[in-house]
Amino acid sequence: MKTIGLVGGMSWESTLEYYRLINEMIKERLGGLHSARCILCSVDFADIEALQRAGRWAEATQFLVASARSVEIAGADFVLLCTNTMHKVADALQSGLRIPLLHIADATAEQVRRAGFRRIGLLGTRFTMEEDFYRGRLERPGGLEVVVPDAPERGAVHRIIYDELCVGCLRPESKVRLRGVMDQLAQQGAEGVILGCTELGLLLNDGDGPVPLFDTTRIHARTAVERALQT
Ligand code: GLU
Repeated sequence: MKTIGLVGGMSWESTLEYYRLINEMIKERLGGLHSARCILCSVDFADIEALQRAGRWAEATQFLVASARSVEIAGADFVLLCTNTMHKVADALQSGLRIPLLHIADATAEQVRRAGFRRIGLLGTRFTMEEDFYRGRLERPGGLEVVVPDAPERGAVHRIIYDELCVGCLRPESKVRLRGVMDQLAQQGAEGVILGCTELGLLLNDGDGPVPLFDTTRIHARTAVERALQT
């Protein structure tokens, strides 16, 4: 089994899910007492969030390169960045590493395509829903057609992520709000919705939307497990 590297803590609420899912999936595949070989570097999310808010992406990149390198030096065969948003700096991060970074948007696009969908809704932070680093990666030639909520809804989703989910607060009224946003995406022709934030799966499960949901945390964890078990 290969060793999975994780750069997490963004937030730790979702990194916990990565750890649980990866171990459950390894157990499912290998049975018995098997568990995942993994190395985690967990950052202080307050530092990262402050850099995001200030638009200091170069410093955030340096911080994440140092974190991912510590995982590489400790013996990881490949690394996952346990957040969609910070994939904004994925290319720079990869160029600071010798081991591969498994990109969360690539893993997700592959799942959506396998499901036979083309027009897909996207929920996440404002960075993820509005900027090209994520949407562009899903949409690149021959790829998917991405639908995002309108500006007020994007603001609401962003707020729910940072003010509630990242601090472990799961509110029924926020679930209702997110359902409303997903209904609008479905009305705009989305055949499925990507939960493009690693905390959204804490509040939303498959069956909570009007269309199938693609939970990026689960998809990313599954991709890592498949890679770890490849011979
Ligand atoms: N975990 C979240 C994501 O997947 C948001 C926190 C962050 O900004 O990294 O985008």
